[in-house]
Amino acid sequence: MSWESTQTYYQLINEGVNRKLGGLHSAEIILYSVDFAKIEKLQGAGEWEESGQLLASAAQGVQTAGADCILICTNTMHKVASQVELSIDIPLLHIADATAEVLVQRGVRKAGLLGTAFTMEQDFYRQRIQNNYGVTVIVPEAEDRKKIHSIIFDELCKGELLKSSKEEYLRIIQSLSDMGAEAVILGCTEIGLLVSQDDTQIPLLDTTRIHADKAVEFALSTS
Ligand code: GLU
Repeated sequence: MSWESTQTYYQLINEGVNRKLGGLHSAEIILYSVDFAKIEKLQGAGEWEESGQLLASAAQGVQTAGADCILICTNTMHKVASQVELSIDIPLLHIADATAEVLVQRGVRKAGLLGTAFTMEQDFYRQRIQNNYGVTVIVPEAEDRKKIHSIIFDELCKGELLKSSKEEYLRIIQSLSDMGAEAVILGCTEIGLLVSQDDTQIPLLDTTRIHADKAVEFALSTS
């Protein structure tokens, strides 16, 4: 979620499987596409327990339909990842773990993080990377965090890609680099729609791509 990035996941996972298996191969995917308005309302109201229940019941549906693993296709909703995990028997591939593994592989010791205010400011994401992988995670200044957050909800989740917003993001990415970040995590699944590695010399980690790659790796290692 939003569906704008869900379609990117769908495409990347299919492309990834086809790259490995060739021919007409594609990915077997069971997609539970949520009504994002409901989720966004719960996020705004701080009703995480209820949003967790909503995702847990979606995950159970996906499990019952035959999935071998679950991806929650957003960084923010990993705030309730353990609630979802507890409700299913199949593995949940955590987006922050997948991202942290790439940071470690690349030898990054200090990373910048862009995402929703929830992702940038709360502990569930940054702390997981810092505590479990030893990578320091820094975030933009308060004013810039506000800008990043509102562009996500007011534009990117509605499929609006504005040149002015892209320039803002690139300016903030540069500011993180100036603060010592060796790489910047695009820690919201829609940011890759606006900014790509072609736009900057600063190494970017697109969490949508990394998470989709993880799913492909998992699926092909167990099939
Ligand atoms: N897709 C976004 C993320 O990766 C934001 C939407 C949401 O709040 O789930 O965090």
